[in-house]
Amino acid sequence: MLICNIDGTIADNAHRRRLLADGTFDWDYFLRPDLISQDRVFPYAREVLTRLTVRHPMILLSGREERFRSISRAWLAEQGLPAPTKLYLRPDGDRRTSTEFKTEILSRIIEHAHEAVSFVDDNAEMESICARFGIQILRAPQIWEELFRYIHLL
Ligand SMILES: [Mg+2]
Repeated sequence: MLICNIDGTIADNAHRRRLLADGTFDWDYFLRPDLISQDRVFPYAREVLTRLTVRHPMILLSGREERFRSISRAWLAEQGLPAPTKLYLRPDGDRRTSTEFKTEILSRIIEHAHEAVSFVDDNAEMESICARFGIQILRAPQIWEELFRYIHLL
């Protein structure tokens, strides 16, 4: 089973990252729907996910809030990415960090999983958490090219 994050993992959101004059991160700019829809897919991610989802379920797990569900689904379809088996998003108003939210969902999935689980994520903080759960973590976005080459060697 493949679990995959979205921002910084499949979606290249570098163009939405901006600092305010006082040096703090501009969240309003980062979450603007018109800018989210302009995210590009990281190279090789589309090919790898399309190939893997022929045989394996793909679960998307993101710290984005629920209010971004329809824009997220629309973006996936527009980019030609496979539709996820399930899309987990943080409840609106949930003040936990993305890491805390992802940890909770991963632990729930692991509890019921009947097959090996791999998690593709760009967040280094998730490495020790995945190790604790016995999940293989694949670090994005650099892993896509490696997986692409591997798939084409098979
Ligand atoms: Mg991310």
